[in-house]
Amino acid sequence: MNQLVLFDIDKTLINKSECHHNAFIYAFEKIYNIDTNAEVINYHGKTDPQIMHEVLIAEGLNESDICPLKDNFLNCLSNYFISNVKSDEIEVMDGAHSLIKELENQKVLLGLLTGNMESIAYAKLNHVGLGHYFKLGGFGSDSYYRPNLVPLAIKRAQNNFSFNGNKKNTFVVGDTPLDVDAGLKAGINTIGVASGDYSLIELKKSGANFILNDLTDLNGFLKILKK
Ligand SMILES: [Mg+2]
Repeated sequence: MNQLVLFDIDKTLINKSECHHNAFIYAFEKIYNIDTNAEVINYHGKTDPQIMHEVLIAEGLNESDICPLKDNFLNCLSNYFISNVKSDEIEVMDGAHSLIKELENQKVLLGLLTGNMESIAYAKLNHVGLGHYFKLGGFGSDSYYRPNLVPLAIKRAQNNFSFNGNKKNTFVVGDTPLDVDAGLKAGINTIGVASGDYSLIELKKSGANFILNDLTDLNGFLKILKK
């Protein structure tokens, strides 16, 4: 396999997950005893541990309050999500399923590049029947800092799936400037998709090499891969 495409999940492949939002509320209350949620910060494009950390800082906690309970929080977040995802009303973004199927047909190696913890990422995608397409990834459970996830995902592709391409053959697809930033920092191609809270102009300004309105543009997407 000589092409690798790494997809963000939230607002790129799926619309939204109420269960993920509720898992944060539950874990903040259970572990830190605080009634809060991810909306107190701009969480778009951030990793789960980063969201946790930034929310707690915004709520006035300091590092010595946060650090000792960090792992407990992430375990609680994951456990809540896995126990409750069955009733989550997640919608797959228009065009996403057809695009992924076509990329698989064309022997493109598919991965994830997401701030979600790995357990949450696959539980979410399995719930809507997409999980099996994605063979590997870089996840919020690997690192707090999104740009660290790209080299990890590429290494996994090389070590476990005979990916023999290079950075030129690797693409990251996401809906936020932070998705674009992670790809740019790693020196791979970036595709910004305006299906979330950021416009085509904002994604272009953030440095995206390519921009698309959404994933319904199958031909547009395939053209990008051939460039
Ligand atoms: Mg996203």
